[in-house]
Amino acid sequence: MTEEPRIGVYVCHCGFNIAGTVDVKKVAEFAKTLPNVVVAKDYVFMCSEPGQDLIKADIKAHNLNRVVVSACSPSLHEITFRTAVSEAGLNKYLLEMANIREHCSWVHHDKEKATEKAKEIVRMAVAKARHLEPLEELEVKAEPSALVLGGGVAGMRAALELANYGFNVYLVEKAPTIGGKAALIGYIDPKTKGPDVVSKMFDRIKDCPRIQVLTNAELIQLSGFAGNYNAKIRINPRYVNEKCTLCGECEEVCPIEVSNEYNFGLNKRKAIFLPFSNAYPPYYAIDYRVCVKCGECEKVCRFGAINLKEEPKTIELKVGSVIIATGYDPYRPFKGEYGYGLHQNIITLFQLERLLDPESPTKGELIIGGKVPKSIAFIQCVGSRNTTPGAKEYCSRMCCTTAINSAIKIKEKYPDTNVYILYKDIMTYGSDETLYEEAGKKLVQFIKFEDKIPKVSITPEGLFIDVFEYTIQENIRIPVDAIVLSIGMLPPRDIEELIAVTRVSCGGEGFVREAHLKLAPVEAPTKGIFLAGCITGPKNILESIRMGSAAAAKAMSLLSKGKITIEPMIAQVNEEKCSGCAICVGVCPYSAISIKKVNGDRIAYVEKALCMGCGTCNAACPSGAMQHLGFKDIQLLAQTRAVFGGEMNV
Ligand code: SF4
Ligand code: SF4
Repeated sequence: MTEEPRIGVYVCHCGFNIAGTVDVKKVAEFAKTLPNVVVAKDYVFMCSEPGQDLIKADIKAHNLNRVVVSACSPSLHEITFRTAVSEAGLNKYLLEMANIREHCSWVHHDKEKATEKAKEIVRMAVAKARHLEPLEELEVKAEPSALVLGGGVAGMRAALELANYGFNVYLVEKAPTIGGKAALIGYIDPKTKGPDVVSKMFDRIKDCPRIQVLTNAELIQLSGFAGNYNAKIRINPRYVNEKCTLCGECEEVCPIEVSNEYNFGLNKRKAIFLPFSNAYPPYYAIDYRVCVKCGECEKVCRFGAINLKEEPKTIELKVGSVIIATGYDPYRPFKGEYGYGLHQNIITLFQLERLLDPESPTKGELIIGGKVPKSIAFIQCVGSRNTTPGAKEYCSRMCCTTAINSAIKIKEKYPDTNVYILYKDIMTYGSDETLYEEAGKKLVQFIKFEDKIPKVSITPEGLFIDVFEYTIQENIRIPVDAIVLSIGMLPPRDIEELIAVTRVSCGGEGFVREAHLKLAPVEAPTKGIFLAGCITGPKNILESIRMGSAAAAKAMSLLSKGKITIEPMIAQVNEEKCSGCAICVGVCPYSAISIKKVNGDRIAYVEKALCMGCGTCNAACPSGAMQHLGFKDIQLLAQTRAVFGGEMNV
């Protein structure tokens, strides 16, 4: 832009949020003294309709060609003001935000000093605004399809939503069946179990031609960008095909037995097995990791459903977006943690839930150690809330509700069994609070242990729990026949591989981090990748389902126009200055840069759709050839000079 900058500065009161600590009128008056500022005003709420109208009117009346809004964080209202300036006919990238709320009024008390700081922030913004350039967005074609990683409730919900709106979906699941853990355990409400919900979802997926279910499958490579991802999927052999009639004869002859992960280790399964009765796809699978290829099952199968010569294969898919819904793993208590692994009557909540299921080894009967316990105690927060050395800091959100639900079920079926719940805090939030009341009415006994965790003793006389009961402030000893450890949730074991392939990032708790917890809770920082369910942290079944819908809605809004817009604030190479050293290629976390030959010279090339505008290459480039549009060296230098009180006419 060669024309002389004509800048309007708009200082927002944000009610008392800013005006309570910053003298906004003084800041506006100060702005009028800055070079190229044609008009400066303050207003009570700049983001309101009248506030935006004021800016639009001034752009026209004063022929402004740049705008500085001095208000809150750009993450909140930059889009609002960009829209306003473009509605007034100005390129929307000729806007600069000066954050005098989060960076000033909210963190200071002294009005005089805060006002001086606000002036400096505005001075910097004006210095940069003088060098702003109009930028143009690009558009690329988007594939009308999505890859959903993880076939649990969140993934299935996302797949169904997308398919309902006409998108083709590849639902990729590592296990031989979809359904996830909700197919085995958990409740949505006292009358609706996780398996019931999963079963209904299976019915809809079976009838949906737009969803292609790929089990025993995993993503091994992801390249491309939003709207145009290339996914490489490895499909491990199942060795059993759709000719399977579920007769089960193969299972009887298979000599290999391993712990049954679908019953959380309560019993064994064979190498050829059906995960659970209504598993989907509805046929047996051979666990390729343990099968010894003896061929016994192949010989006995009368339907020619088994082919032990099957090989792993790799397929390539082109998709517009990716939804990651790969769930969680249950916390595994260490040997001896509350006696776990030292006595057969000390089990986990997941194992109890399976025991109470009609498909369990005990056909739904509460039989632990060979008999129905006369007294059973749940210990809450195992693996969560810092209770033991290996425990995580966070609350796993579903264990209190699940334990209380199971306690109620036990009391209903075995009224003579004493049920205790030893807890730190009861986290039955929302409508689940009624369960807590219901459990009390059914005489489930709640024992609060606060910070002194209970001690489990295994003696010849039986199991005992010693606990300091916080409410009555007394040590008590409870004799019990069985103990249930309410274990929490951990990030999935293979999260590192997922991160390496998809380039999402991890938060402090080890789960995948959202782009912004409040503003973009189902989006990964990489455009076109969305997150659903427990992959971002513990959630109950209903929350996971809702998040699946939300992630699908976001993916649809990205893909629905058949093209997507690329943000122009990205890296740009000055070919004259580029030495072809390739330092930028190595530092780019998104693999957006390559080296191309231009007239025989090696020149860095930025794939615009891949660049996320992180600025890493810009900082690393030793020749000053890599510039970041919207944050060019000249713009940042002007801002830096301004903060140190230097000459603004650079
Ligand atoms: S694979 Fe063959 S033997 Fe095994 S359950 Fe299926 S049909 Fe029966
Ligand atoms: S700004 Fe540079 S390093 Fe960052 S994504 Fe774009 S090309 Fe890669």
